[in-house]
Amino acid sequence: MIRVTVWGENVHEQKNRIVAGIYPKGMHGTIADALNRDAGLTATTVTLQDPEHGLTDAKLADTDVLIWWGHAAHGDVQDAVVEIVDRVCDAVWGGMGIIFLHSAHFAKPFKRLMGAPCNLSWREAGERERLWVTSRNHPIAAGLPDHFELETEEMYGEPFGVPDPMETVFVSWFQGGEVFRSGLTYKRGAGSIFYFRPGHETYPTYHDANVQRVIANGVKWAFNPAPRIANPNAAPNRPVDQALEPIVERGPRLHHDGEEGFR
Ligand code: ZN
Repeated sequence: MIRVTVWGENVHEQKNRIVAGIYPKGMHGTIADALNRDAGLTATTVTLQDPEHGLTDAKLADTDVLIWWGHAAHGDVQDAVVEIVDRVCDAVWGGMGIIFLHSAHFAKPFKRLMGAPCNLSWREAGERERLWVTSRNHPIAAGLPDHFELETEEMYGEPFGVPDPMETVFVSWFQGGEVFRSGLTYKRGAGSIFYFRPGHETYPTYHDANVQRVIANGVKWAFNPAPRIANPNAAPNRPVDQALEPIVERGPRLHHDGEEGFR
């Protein structure tokens, strides 16, 4: 069983009647329900409003793949008192998979993992989006037609301010003419990252069977069966006497002799 945690910002669902009508259990609830119909997956949900945003050390330790949807409250995600963003990035670097959906392109963990502005252009006009599979044998595209359409979506346009991805799995075309790289994969440390574009809150995107399949495929792709690396930031010294082959030590040795005299 792959253990999935769906993190929902859960703000639009509480404040907007249209969003609440489409997603009575929240977008996170709809996404988790779809994943739980897959026999190989078990999904739970947490939200921004939970203590520590639901992302405690214990919850992250029990999470193989984290899914993140955020939009209106990126700034409310704590990165000062409790280092939740550090905690999430450490988990990714240690091997946790993570999927960022739609407006999570501006989520703090995504921006930190990308090290780039992650900006884009956008238009909220309920226009048609056509997603083309650009990597036909990629596991994230398994079982999909060569293209599929979402009748009403928000437009995201290039240039998308992210580093060049490892793989581009989908490219979107929009009715207004723009295109966008809408399915991108990355490795950061031991962790696999998938960004998937669709999912504007006022449209029923997460009820779409193709979208649900992409997310489930993404979870299976991002899953890393190896044990989590406990401290992915460690940079251990390997002294001369522990070298695999005997070596003769030569100076100068900055870290042995120190620089105390120059302080
Ligand atoms: Zn949106």
